Amino acid sequence: MSPKILLIDDSATQLEILKLNFSKLGYDVITAKDGSEGYRMVFEVAPDLILSDIVMPNLNGYQLCRLLKNNKSTQKIPIILLTVLDKKIDKFWGSKSGADKFISKTTNYEEIEEIVKKNIEKNPISDEYKKHLLNNSVSDETIQNQINSVLDELLMNSTFLNEFRDLGEFLSHEKVLIEKTFKLIGSFVEYNVAGLFLNTPDKNEKNILHIDIGKNSVSSFVMEKIKRDFFAKMPGVSTFTIRDFGHDIVREPVNKNQPVLNFEEFKTAHILPLISNGDLVGGVCFYNTEKCNYAEFKFYKTMISELLLLLKMRFLYSQTEYLSVTDGLMGLYNRRHFEYNIEREFLRTKRYPSDLSLAMIDIDHFKNVNDTYGHQFGDYVLKNISDIILESFRKTDMVYRYGGEELAIILTETSLESAIIPLERLKNKIAKHQFTYNGKTTNITISIGLSSNFMDIQTQEELVESADKALYRAKQSGRNKVVAYSYEKFSNIT
Ligand code: GH3
Ligand code: MG
Ligand code: MG
Repeated sequence: MSPKILLIDDSATQLEILKLNFSKLGYDVITAKDGSEGYRMVFEVAPDLILSDIVMPNLNGYQLCRLLKNNKSTQKIPIILLTVLDKKIDKFWGSKSGADKFISKTTNYEEIEEIVKKNIEKNPISDEYKKHLLNNSVSDETIQNQINSVLDELLMNSTFLNEFRDLGEFLSHEKVLIEKTFKLIGSFVEYNVAGLFLNTPDKNEKNILHIDIGKNSVSSFVMEKIKRDFFAKMPGVSTFTIRDFGHDIVREPVNKNQPVLNFEEFKTAHILPLISNGDLVGGVCFYNTEKCNYAEFKFYKTMISELLLLLKMRFLYSQTEYLSVTDGLMGLYNRRHFEYNIEREFLRTKRYPSDLSLAMIDIDHFKNVNDTYGHQFGDYVLKNISDIILESFRKTDMVYRYGGEELAIILTETSLESAIIPLERLKNKIAKHQFTYNGKTTNITISIGLSSNFMDIQTQEELVESADKALYRAKQSGRNKVVAYSYEKFSNIT
């Protein structure tokens, strides 16, 4: 059977010439004198390709395109817009409305024929597709309704887009960003509980699921379960220990007297990691007591792609922040960040009295390691030691590269006595560890000086100084030791 072409043009002469040309080439040609007649004909003849003018009464070429490309039963049919319009903006609208090709009426016939032939070959319309299409029909009234709903949808989509793009302003204020995002999502998505996770490249940072409770309150047990299920679905996020992740409730229902929900009452749980270029930039989840398919929600695609963009920007933003405070070799915070944090933590203990300990670590005879095994081996040891320290301490204990091979750990809410235990364990762990690189193996030890915010320590500089003195004492008294500073005297722990 010869391919069917539907020609739509309000100029009878133009239509006649085209018809003649294509009939000669063996095509089955059907014509329509304006957009709305053309639209109706699509359902009557099921063409293999549509060649349409743009400027026409009733329904113009762009509108026709939008209608056909928005409908599952017609969107596969290739549409070529043929026009006298040749401004950039016309081409732009043509492609935005979904046209497969946009050609000028000044193009010679051979070329037009070539393009038609190519498009038919490229997008063959199956008999089954045509049969399904022929079973539908449209009246003038439905055309008008369809145009209205397409326009409505376009307008809503662009409104969402604008609202999401406006959130980009708050990238540097995480709290505001999260609140505004929930406010926006909550204004058009139905849920009982929604969760939002913003990932950062900083592995020291605790993973937090920010929660928005839409209707009923939920028990803390439900919250735990939501959190666990969520992070279990985030690729590469450790759910090994509970301290690796937490939650924070951003909004709660005003009326707390409503019944508290049990987990079994949720009929829908939608959890989605957001990944961009292989990086997990965050994730979202929705829980609903009613059965619903979030992926089929009308603006789901727009919402998810905009969220992905937003969280990606946030991820890049925190990456820049992170790189400025971390050290490339060891992946630890750098000295500058140390100075800033020790001051902040020290001031905090003045305002809200609490324990604060500081450990200074120095590798023993590290120069020998470099001299004997080479600098690369030394770098490898540094990286290994920093990994061991990171996995041995709480996320709230911040680890810094203080100098070349000197490290510092700020232990918040930790007294001198309670800091000794994990530091002892660390010292022993490293002493037992075999460092193997390029076939060479050796053992390494470290010395640790420890101090806390005692009464006689008035400033953060004094805290650093006292920990340094304790470290010096550890070196002097034989290395591979933890020495604690206490009221101007040193207690040798081991
Ligand atoms: P000890 O601390 O036990 O007194 O002896 P040490 O040999 O470790 O002495 P010191 O702490 O003064 O030496 C520091 C050495 O660490 C000198 C330097 O070559 C090495 N070092 C510092 N930074 C790096 C680094 O980034 N990579 C490597 N491979 N070596 C480093
Ligand atoms: Mg050393
Ligand atoms: Mg040193």
